[in-house]
Amino acid sequence: MKVVETIEAVRAEVTAARKKAATIGLVPTMGAFHRGHISLIERAVKHCDFVVVSIFVNPTQFGPGEDFQEYPRSFDTDLEICRKSGVDLVFAPSTDQMYAAENLTWVNVEKLTEPLCGRFRPTHFRGVTTVCAKLFNIVLPDIAFFGQKDAQQAIVIKRMVADLNMPLKIVLCPTVRDPDGLALSSRNKYLNQQQRKDATLIYKSLQKCEKMVEAGVTNTEEIIARMRSILNQAPSINIEYVSIVDAETLQSIENITGKILTAIAVKIGPARLIDNILVDAAKQ
Ligand code: AMP
Repeated sequence: MKVVETIEAVRAEVTAARKKAATIGLVPTMGAFHRGHISLIERAVKHCDFVVVSIFVNPTQFGPGEDFQEYPRSFDTDLEICRKSGVDLVFAPSTDQMYAAENLTWVNVEKLTEPLCGRFRPTHFRGVTTVCAKLFNIVLPDIAFFGQKDAQQAIVIKRMVADLNMPLKIVLCPTVRDPDGLALSSRNKYLNQQQRKDATLIYKSLQKCEKMVEAGVTNTEEIIARMRSILNQAPSINIEYVSIVDAETLQSIENITGKILTAIAVKIGPARLIDNILVDAAKQ
């Protein structure tokens, strides 16, 4: 496995690999690996002939006052995980490498970035799409792997790829959870013991939605009220949003008929945590 820090070196490695490898896979990450990241990497290794993992804590997707400085970094352990998983190339650029000059060109996906996290992090998705567009242009992968954990991010990136005719496929991987249901996140490290316990209410609340839909409840206001009451059991939880939206358009809905995305964002102590589930009412 090679570890490179420059765009030039990635291009040289990928060009050489192209001669032998039919499928090149990319797993974009911000490092601080947990089993969620590992599941994406393993999927890429299984399906691609040459796998690139990028590790870059992208400053442009953090807003003012967010946790860019504190964001967990565990580079050596991450490299070890990549090595053991059969990754071919790790791209770990500096900020100067990725943003050599003041960035004047941004990729902005409209509409889909407005609801949910977009309401609370107005410049976040612009940073995500811009850095992903850069990574796609640098690595030129055939497939890029993303997690369902960041559902809105995945939908936004898929739309960018479609709208801009980018020649790659996006593969989504299921959310990996701890045994008590909490979705793995690099930010779970910020939680103390009590907050970690309280955080299990996020998935419990999502499961309540699933059960209510299964039981035939279609009114989203009623479901959201129940979900909020579960989250409110823990005084440490500050709800940012509990939303039930159309799984494709991300627009709020009043009555559930088809595929929905139920998504939650909360603050618990220093951590902002998000989670979601997809439910298909037609299948219940
Ligand atoms: P990050 O390093 O947080 O930017 O995440 C890198 C990739 O890992 C993104 O595509 C995330 O959606 C994905 N990811 C993060 N947490 C999980 C999880 N618990 N299960 C599956 N994928 C995840």
